[in-house]
Amino acid sequence: MTTRTTEAPVETPCLKQPDRWFAERNDDLQAAKQECGMCPVRTACLLAALERAEPWGVWGGEIFVDGTVVEVKHGRGRPPKHRPHGSCA
Ligand code: SF4
Repeated sequence: MTTRTTEAPVETPCLKQPDRWFAERNDDLQAAKQECGMCPVRTACLLAALERAEPWGVWGGEIFVDGTVVEVKHGRGRPPKHRPHGSCA
């Protein structure tokens, strides 16, 4: 059995520029967060992303990294010059 709805599809800001929601640059991610603020499904989107533990991207106005909400996503950067004492390699 299928469920049908007569509701119109929701136009969400992330559908217009999806790359921004998964960008590497922090300023793009911050812009995506702001645009989420205007989204009619923001709360549901955020709760669903938390439940799925989204590995990355902006969901519901928050930046996710490895299933956790973070304020700022840090770039990959260089590996440390000095490894902690006792680490391999
Ligand atoms: S709240 Fe969710 S659905 Fe709405 S723009 Fe942001 S990521 Fe897209």
